[in-house]
Amino acid sequence: MIVTGDIAEVRAARWGGGNLSWGFVPTMGYLHAGHLALVERAIAENERTAVSIYVNPTQFGPREDFSSYPRALTQDMALLENAGVDLVFTPSDSVMYPVGFQTAVAVPELSMLLEGASRPGHFAGVATVVAKLFNIVQPTRAYFGQKDAQQSVVLGRMVTDLNFPVDLIVCPTVREHDGLAMSSRNAYLFLAERTAAVVLYQALTAAKEALLAGQRDGPALRQLIEKRVAAEPLARLDYAAVVHPHTLTELTVVEESALLLLAVFMGRTRLIDNMLVELAG
Ligand code: AMP
Repeated sequence: MIVTGDIAEVRAARWGGGNLSWGFVPTMGYLHAGHLALVERAIAENERTAVSIYVNPTQFGPREDFSSYPRALTQDMALLENAGVDLVFTPSDSVMYPVGFQTAVAVPELSMLLEGASRPGHFAGVATVVAKLFNIVQPTRAYFGQKDAQQSVVLGRMVTDLNFPVDLIVCPTVREHDGLAMSSRNAYLFLAERTAAVVLYQALTAAKEALLAGQRDGPALRQLIEKRVAAEPLARLDYAAVVHPHTLTELTVVEESALLLLAVFMGRTRLIDNMLVELAG
């Protein structure tokens, strides 16, 4: 496994073996089974696989957790080596954002909504760093988690609009035994918060069940999520939404499908989750 922070070395590995298919999994590290599911899928579907580990400062707001974001590089490397990854790109900030850097990729409309409304600038940071990573790694396919549903929608728009020659593949959310979506940020939770954090999954499940049982009213489904979260004293809702899976606009009435999302503060830790519901027929 090649581990490098050097762009020229990534390109040499990428093209040195000829035109092989490369899968790519961008991450911020502190890897868990959710990340590893993306890695395994990339390995299964491509001749070579690259993973990046980079905690991108430009996607964090000034009062967010950039400096405390969990890091475990040695353990991450062992997991990736064991999985059979060919290349790990671990750039420094000066490689990604050298002096004079000023270009940005904006996907303004999709980036204003939901997460973007709570985290201004977040998706511009994400789109810019992922565009850079795609240009550096030049993957055939790139793998993202449904866990960050809006991120996949924003990046899908970017890939289409800017003609990146890469297939985006969105993989299912991997969950803990009680349903909590795996996240590097779960490490911040105190024991009582960790127990209570199951409310995100339970609220989404309740809304999904109501939808499947015939409740098609978007606001009523959103209120159901809101009520479930409000019943958990350790949770504070940031937002809940019932939206169209592609446009991310709020649905008054659910027709074929809906994306149910929420963001919740458990103490100082902000968690997100979502469920995509497709209605048969
Ligand atoms: P992160 O390191 O949090 O930036 O995540 C890197 C990638 O892993 C993103 O595409 C995430 O959507 C994905 N990911 C994170 N958590 C999960 C999960 N529980 N299940 C599936 N994918 C995930």
